[in-house]
Amino acid sequence: MFFNIDIKMGKIIINEDRCKGCELCVEACPYGLIEMSVEVNHFGYHTAQFVNGKECTACKFCGMMCPDFAIDVYR
Ligand code: SF4
Ligand code: SF4
Repeated sequence: MFFNIDIKMGKIIINEDRCKGCELCVEACPYGLIEMSVEVNHFGYHTAQFVNGKECTACKFCGMMCPDFAIDVYR
């Protein structure tokens, strides 16, 4: 028996210049694909970074949670 499971693979791009380091996107991703960087941006905030593109389903939870519209989600 075969299962036809259509899981769309996605990716995100984080605009580090807009990131305020709130970590809401880290909590929002069900697959743990976002972590905080040790680097800081021009505001002095540690920024979010995408750590593993292979499991991203483009669910957009991270983008919806970001109060600074810093995350774009692509399929
Ligand atoms: S789109 Fe969904 S799976 Fe992909 S990084 Fe954002 S929350 Fe995680
Ligand atoms: S939710 Fe937005 S502002 Fe907050 S850490 Fe993630 S990318 Fe940065």
